[in-house]
Amino acid sequence: MYQPARLHRAVAQLCTVRREWGALLVAVETPPAAAWPPAQLSTHLAQQLSADVEPLVADRAPLTLREHPAPLNLAALDAAVRVETLLFDLADTLAAGVQRPIARQRISSPGRPAVWADDLTDASDPRRWVYRSPTDPGSRRHGAHFAAMWVEGRLLDEDTTPEREANYTVRPALFGLLPDHLRHEAIRTAGQCERLVLRVLELDARSTPIEGRPCPWCAGDLMLHTADGQAPRVTCGSGPTCPAPLPLDEEQRRVWGATDLVSLVTALERAAACGRAA
Ligand SMILES: [Zn+2]
Repeated sequence: MYQPARLHRAVAQLCTVRREWGALLVAVETPPAAAWPPAQLSTHLAQQLSADVEPLVADRAPLTLREHPAPLNLAALDAAVRVETLLFDLADTLAAGVQRPIARQRISSPGRPAVWADDLTDASDPRRWVYRSPTDPGSRRHGAHFAAMWVEGRLLDEDTTPEREANYTVRPALFGLLPDHLRHEAIRTAGQCERLVLRVLELDARSTPIEGRPCPWCAGDLMLHTADGQAPRVTCGSGPTCPAPLPLDEEQRRVWGATDLVSLVTALERAAACGRAA
């Protein structure tokens, strides 16, 4: 049996993929640039400034089904297509293992030879994963966001108890519990997808010196820190002597956290403008 901690870690990794998916789609259409501010910061700032606007990630057509005449960032497109494919294939595999087949209904009149057909209500249950066919993308048309949520539901054993219908009949559960080998597969793929997304967005754990933009308060060297699933931070290398009105981190460095970064970027741009004017 899998430890609940490993399942919840996998669900959190899929949530990260969904949360960063909008940033990844923006990255596909943005040329990779070493310009200021670094991509990690600009993505974070754009998200902060548009915090009230839910990006239309859920409704975007999947990249695997779209034409890309001239993607501006091939690495981002490659990562996004790989993640989509991994999630779609995983959903296919899990559905084959635990999704209840569509119920059948007798559609012939009493006394006539029996003719059976799919129960259309059951077939169109939006919780179902629909396989693609040569003419129809099935559930893949809803994109990576939907596929990730669907896999999360299987990891969390959602909809695994029999359901009472409006007419008081009881229908077997839509999904069975994942056997261990499918859990293992889902946990492995969730980790792989998260790593792909965070690496291409440069949000994996790393520290990058900010070149040519010294601390506006003490001219010390600034360092940009990112870590899996966390907002970026910037620290000043001068330690506690830096007069910036900010708390100290565990290494006694002034630190600009998620909400302080807008003011830091503004101050750095003002300093750069003054430098140019001088
Ligand atoms: Zn400083």
